Amino acid sequence: MQTMVVDMDVSKIALTRVLSRLTPAAYFAPTAPLRLLTLPDPPLPQPDWVRVRNRLCGICGSDLHQIFLDASLDVAPVALPSHRRIYLGHEMVGDVIEAGPAQTAWRPGDRVVRWGRADDCAARGLADRCPACARGHRVLCMRASEPRSHHPIGGGFGDTFITPASTLVRVPDAVRDEQAIFTEPAAVAIHAAWRCLPQPGQHVLVLGVGTIGFLLIQVLRAVQAQAKISAVAEFPWQADLARACGVDHVFLAHADGYAEAAALTGARLYHGRGGNRMLMGGFDTVFDVVGIPATLTNALRWTQARGTVVLVGVNLHRMRVDLTPVWHQEVNLLGAVGHDIVVWQGEEISTFELALRWMQSGRLRTDPLLTHRFPLHAFRQAFATAVDKRQARSIKVAFEELATAAP
Ligand SMILES: [Zn+2]
Ligand SMILES: [Zn+2]
Repeated sequence: MQTMVVDMDVSKIALTRVLSRLTPAAYFAPTAPLRLLTLPDPPLPQPDWVRVRNRLCGICGSDLHQIFLDASLDVAPVALPSHRRIYLGHEMVGDVIEAGPAQTAWRPGDRVVRWGRADDCAARGLADRCPACARGHRVLCMRASEPRSHHPIGGGFGDTFITPASTLVRVPDAVRDEQAIFTEPAAVAIHAAWRCLPQPGQHVLVLGVGTIGFLLIQVLRAVQAQAKISAVAEFPWQADLARACGVDHVFLAHADGYAEAAALTGARLYHGRGGNRMLMGGFDTVFDVVGIPATLTNALRWTQARGTVVLVGVNLHRMRVDLTPVWHQEVNLLGAVGHDIVVWQGEEISTFELALRWMQSGRLRTDPLLTHRFPLHAFRQAFATAVDKRQARSIKVAFEELATAAP
């Protein structure tokens, strides 16, 4: 098996952090936690496990956080025990090539995508589900950090992996590989939209347009044709695509966001001292898909009283953010992580299944989002392209030809 890993080795992480100040090549040096390994194919450890061969795998922002060691040691998730080895790549599509004898759902040849993690109650084979898993929000599983006897081995950045069968979702024939790799980010975008579904006539802002932002715009448009949807883009080419995805207005991140937000929503803009500004009125809902101090501070100030900010962007650092709008204007601050089960048109459905259905029907268009493809051996170039939105104009970068990767 060929597979890419990040080893959570404290001395390697510390050394790479120091060396990376001299050269970004440090992240790919032999001293780095990131490695492309060739391992013996592990046997299936339990009768309900399967082996999958990857066809295509997208690079997610969370993969980049791990590769570039972008986390502080003093944030809450880091207090939890972590796996000693992280296998990179969860936005994969592939084929089952071996199925354990205890389950009948999967056969060799079945095309699948992966839920992401394999630490929840179902993946552990537990009959009694924790409250989050019982709701279908497996990413919030209460037992996620408990020790387990068998670990999935391998990820999407490699040729094959083994995993409990309950972590896989079937891909309909009509969904192409190039669409299927968007199942997880689309499921995440659907979950985020459901944290605060827009009502007719409401004004919603999507702050930040990468893969999740573009998908979120389409989801919001799909669930509420009568909402006014605006977006903030970093580059003009992103603004063009945001329009094509269905936003009514888009402005650039380097524009005067306060003036833009006031003009769009009819809010009143007040100027305090030293550039301190505040809106009275504003958006009903702001989805902060970037999640850095500047965007979250703006999101809270651009939201009207009793409106809602949904924090979607992942940031593993302590942030200096002005939270006063939370009490001063009773702005609700919600988070969104992973995927869950939602009610759509009277039907309870997992956001994974809904994502696949909407991609199949064309309600979610992903073709413009897959901008670059690389073979796995060109991983340095692939990761650099994924980071470089300005020159490369990348949205989703994917690894291809995975099954034929040379050992
Ligand atoms: Zn992802
Ligand atoms: Zn659970």
